[in-house]
Amino acid sequence: MFPFFSYSSLLLLLLLFIIIFLPSFPARNIPEFITVLPVNLNNTNYTWSGFDRFVDVGRGSELAGMSELKKYFHRFGYLLVTDNTNFTDIFDARFESAIIQYQSKLGLPVTGKLDSTTLSQVMSPRCGVSDMEHILHTTKHYAYFPGRPSWDRSTPMMLTYAFSPDNSIDYISKSDIRDIFERAFMKWASVIPLNFTETQDYKIADIKIGFYSKDHGDGEPFDGVLGVLAHAFSPENGRFHLDAAETWAIDFGSEKSRVAVDLESVATHEIGHVLGLAHSSVKEAVMYPSLSPRSKKVDLKLDDVKGVQALYGSNPNFRFSSLLESDISSNQAVDI
Ligand SMILES: [Zn+2]
Ligand SMILES: [Zn+2]
Repeated sequence: MFPFFSYSSLLLLLLLFIIIFLPSFPARNIPEFITVLPVNLNNTNYTWSGFDRFVDVGRGSELAGMSELKKYFHRFGYLLVTDNTNFTDIFDARFESAIIQYQSKLGLPVTGKLDSTTLSQVMSPRCGVSDMEHILHTTKHYAYFPGRPSWDRSTPMMLTYAFSPDNSIDYISKSDIRDIFERAFMKWASVIPLNFTETQDYKIADIKIGFYSKDHGDGEPFDGVLGVLAHAFSPENGRFHLDAAETWAIDFGSEKSRVAVDLESVATHEIGHVLGLAHSSVKEAVMYPSLSPRSKKVDLKLDDVKGVQALYGSNPNFRFSSLLESDISSNQAVDI
């Protein structure tokens, strides 16, 4: 009845279709590692950018420089050894378990492998505070430092902060820097019963903020462009250091550098440490350890708020509903 559409002619048509159109289908074998960095930083020599050569290296392999990658894991709390100068270039069982620990802490797929997702995370610029200097909260994702330290002041609680007169950057005006930090401090002050005030007296300030390069005397040297961006100490230390080698930005419209780092995002994160929060495993949280260049993360998420309120209580004017709405509207998964 339908001689033109016999089974064999249909098959022929199908074959023709495949032959003609298949070469134009999107190639599916693009190596994943080309997307290792969220911003294209290929052919550059920023801190940790060389780690991309370890993509898909598996257990039992030996590759020159693997010891440097092991030092990275050790530095951030994942490869605990007494002597960190003696790492081999062999991907051994111990390294595999460090990778597993890293993946589960940072909310990545747990594969125990140096897959592109994991290496991308490893190479992302991040905070210098170790991920393991904390007590994991069992049901939430936020965490504290050992002993759960917080600032112990009489109410109404007030902390002062000051900028180091000797350790600053000159390409952002002092008033812009002050505005950025005031905004960042306000974010935290709006959820807990604690106020922050700037003081000109650096010596007596509770929180001492400064931009430093390389080794600056606290045993936590900075590393140049990207890599570690900043670090801050747990209560009641108050030291708050930013890597002077970064291209700090207050506005990506005027700062075009592809390695520009958002000052307000990093300030907001480090204030969390100053208050006593350690790193969170919630990717969207301000207290997650990494931040891509040219990206912003300035709004506290429920995880951040719950964590800091467990230390200090809630600001009487704070309403969870407003936070819930913003979390839901941005479609981010948070543990409430
Ligand atoms: Zn941090
Ligand atoms: Zn420092």
